[in-house]
Amino acid sequence: MSEFQDKVALVTGAGRGIGRAIALAFAAQGARVAANDLTPIHLDQTIAAAASTPGEARAFLADVSKKMEVQAMVEAVRDAFGRIDVLVNNAGVEPHASLLKMDEWDWDRTLAVNLKGPFLSMQSVGRVMAEQGGGVMVNIASIAGRAHGLKDRSAYVASKMGLIALTREAARELAAYNIRVNAVCPGRIETEMTADLRQDEAMVARWLREVPLGRLGQPQEVASLVLFLCSSRAGYITGQAYNVDGGRVMC
Ligand code: NAP
Repeated sequence: MSEFQDKVALVTGAGRGIGRAIALAFAAQGARVAANDLTPIHLDQTIAAAASTPGEARAFLADVSKKMEVQAMVEAVRDAFGRIDVLVNNAGVEPHASLLKMDEWDWDRTLAVNLKGPFLSMQSVGRVMAEQGGGVMVNIASIAGRAHGLKDRSAYVASKMGLIALTREAARELAAYNIRVNAVCPGRIETEMTADLRQDEAMVARWLREVPLGRLGQPQEVASLVLFLCSSRAGYITGQAYNVDGGRVMC
């Protein structure tokens, strides 16, 4: 039997892309998945896909950047499932704009979703996990938050670099409650987030030249690393950030 059988995993931004792959990977292992997203539009497909797994998924709508909504979501998940064993902070946005042209709104929204969101979720879920004796958290950062950086994405890069730092500090503080916290840093993965950029053949050719494995990644390849970090096989790992990027960044 899988060690995730009947475990409760809250995954944010689970309506599509990497979040959906993570939610379905947990459900495939028999987990009870609390699948969050902003709207039901895509989330309904995640819930439907989970129906053919040994686990289950239920929808919990919330904007992860809003404290009241996150608190209400965490309460609702606890009411529905009784506990929360795993938190995956995956929801994210990536606006493209040069520093000189970026709107204040884009800056604020990016930091609110990508950095404040994980803080709010880790705080609310951390209280639940501390009460129940432990748990595990994974924050989906990006190789853009490492030395790599990314042109015309200053808000995104700042948010992901901040998320890696927040992961370390959360791991340091929450270890006392038997809660492990790690970050996963994807490279370029084939999802909606990269759909526009993937139309640009020259851009894709450049990306592929930079990736030793010579291809883009799949959402399931990010999910595999997340499940490993949430498993007991990773029981002595906390405060770390791991790249899943075909070798694009080696640090
Ligand atoms: P995606 O396809 O754009 O999916 C992101 C999901 O998050 C969407 O379902 C979106 O909902 C949801 N979301 C956005 N804002 C939210 C909010 N405030 N509250 C709740 N849900 C929200 O993105 P992805 O490619 O799967 O990326 C997932 C994560 O991986 C992100 O954190 C991203 O930064 C990171 N990442 C991705 C790549 C890549 O190449 N794809 C690389 C590095 C890191 P809506 O559909 O309603 O907007």
